Amino acid sequence: MSVLRIEGLRAAVAGREILRGVDLEVRSGETHAVMGPNGSGKSTLAHVLMGRPGYEVLAGSVTIDGTELLGLPVDERARAGLFLTFQYPIEVPGVPVAEVLREALRAAGGDTTDLEGRMAAEGERLGIPVLLLDRPMNVDLSGGEKKRNETLQLAVLHPRFAVLDELDSGLDVDALRQVARRVEAASNESDPPLGVIAITHYRRLLTVLHPDVVHVLSEGRIVRTGGPELASELEATGYAGYRAQPDGTVGDDDGRPAES
Ligand code: ADP
Ligand code: MG
Repeated sequence: MSVLRIEGLRAAVAGREILRGVDLEVRSGETHAVMGPNGSGKSTLAHVLMGRPGYEVLAGSVTIDGTELLGLPVDERARAGLFLTFQYPIEVPGVPVAEVLREALRAAGGDTTDLEGRMAAEGERLGIPVLLLDRPMNVDLSGGEKKRNETLQLAVLHPRFAVLDELDSGLDVDALRQVARRVEAASNESDPPLGVIAITHYRRLLTVLHPDVVHVLSEGRIVRTGGPELASELEATGYAGYRAQPDGTVGDDDGRPAES
């Protein structure tokens, strides 16, 4: 059992404070959805957790089982058990996925036996044609194929915690179901079960992923936390009530969206 703990996280991009005090705690086997309007800082949160250059941490702490991640280079965060699927997966010409996975597993002291077989099995589960597995990382893949590919890497690497940044974007309904089912299975398996932060705009991912907790991020802060029913409510009401008011507050006093 592991714990990913984010405390008082503040971060700036290009000199502007985007995350303004984020607190979030995820345990092995839990799925937390982070929803919120465009520009609220969701991707920034993902990048800051993983240590993308250019994002300046102003305050706070991010730990896995007590090990501080902030300040560590990306590869050490990965070795500590953190994995990120990108909202916009990058193409890496000349580098096959199998090679990336083999090196990553080796670096983390993981098992590399029958890697091709495991990739093929995951590929079948995720609807990725075997031919695509030999391509250089994400090169000439469709948006949906890239997202399936990200999920395959997640499944083979078996991290402790995964941050999914809009894994659902660009996926059709069938692909969405396959990808979400695979993540859901990882969060139910043992040794230890995967802890998930699923960033998304849409409830449709969550109907398969079954989050335990739903958070609303607005203007760089978590302004509301609830159960799965919160996702349905957001789908009905939208995020209008969660945008900043002229006085700088969000929604009304108890953090609920203002009545329109
Ligand atoms: P979300 O993922 O919730 O839509 P982002 O985290 O991508 O939001 O962006 C939050 C804010 O930070 C936006 O106003 C965006 O323009 C700004 N931002 C994000 N990344 C950068 C960057 N690299 N340079 C400048 N501004 C950025
Ligand atoms: Mg984003």
